[in-house]
Amino acid sequence: SKATLFDKGTRVNITFNDVAGLDEAKVEVMEIVDFLKQPKKYTALGGKIPKGALLVGPPGTGKTLLAKAMAGEAQVPFFSMSGSDFVELFVGVGASRVRDLFKQAREKAPCIIFIDEIDAIGRARGKNVMMSNDERENTLNQLLVEMDGFGTDSGIIILAATNRPDVLDSALLRPGRFDRQISIDKPDLVGREAIFEVHLKPIKKSPNLDIRRLAAQTPGFAGADIANVCNEAALIAARKGKNEVEMEDFNDAVDRVIGGLEKKNKIISPEE
Ligand code: ATP
Repeated sequence: SKATLFDKGTRVNITFNDVAGLDEAKVEVMEIVDFLKQPKKYTALGGKIPKGALLVGPPGTGKTLLAKAMAGEAQVPFFSMSGSDFVELFVGVGASRVRDLFKQAREKAPCIIFIDEIDAIGRARGKNVMMSNDERENTLNQLLVEMDGFGTDSGIIILAATNRPDVLDSALLRPGRFDRQISIDKPDLVGREAIFEVHLKPIKKSPNLDIRRLAAQTPGFAGADIANVCNEAALIAARKGKNEVEMEDFNDAVDRVIGGLEKKNKIISPEE
């Protein structure tokens, strides 16, 4: 909702344990966490700590989760906003929201700022049909001004997520801005198994559940889809009056989630 345009420096208790798979991405973000924890170690030799990193990958793969886990691991406040929240705003409002966000972040540094769907404000000129170009550019310019305005020792790390790095304005990707890209891909078989393990934890499940088979039955699923399957399976079993969730409930849940995904794809590409 518009009332919570951004997360105002919340403390999060999510850690890397809550993020399954994504092993390579985790290694990269651990470096950034260490910058937040012990900046002096890095600046001592004259190095400049990066200001930001771009998390690139399809929807539901855990970009937001990973950004929150970074804040949790570094034990710093988490600020977030979504690029798409700015789409309907009046002229000047986007820029002032950005200014406001950075002002609050500076007061609470060290901290993490997370900008979801950065492509909504960071698209290259003339490629955005959603927002008037002037307003989008004002917002983007303000973001660039803010990013350039703090030193690398300020203790603020800005993470941004997108599934369309190709449409981003190159100004965003220049050195000293989002000059690191971390790719967050859909999980492979092993990754899906790990994600099932995480989301099965709170579920009362039958002891003969075959997690390997569940992972094998869900190619192309993102983490968010797997979370969805686990939840649906629990609801399906409960509706049947069971006291534990069985393999057949998971199978039904997988079918249901596949049905949902197909519908979503139809809406996105009606010509197919
Ligand atoms: P979007 O681009 O749509 O914002 P996202 O990549 O930011 O998606 P998240 O919001 O982080 O995705 O993921 C949604 C939910 O899916 C998470 O809160 C979590 O429950 C689950 N999930 C996704 N990826 C993982 C993962 N790697 N490990 C555990 N859970 C995951």
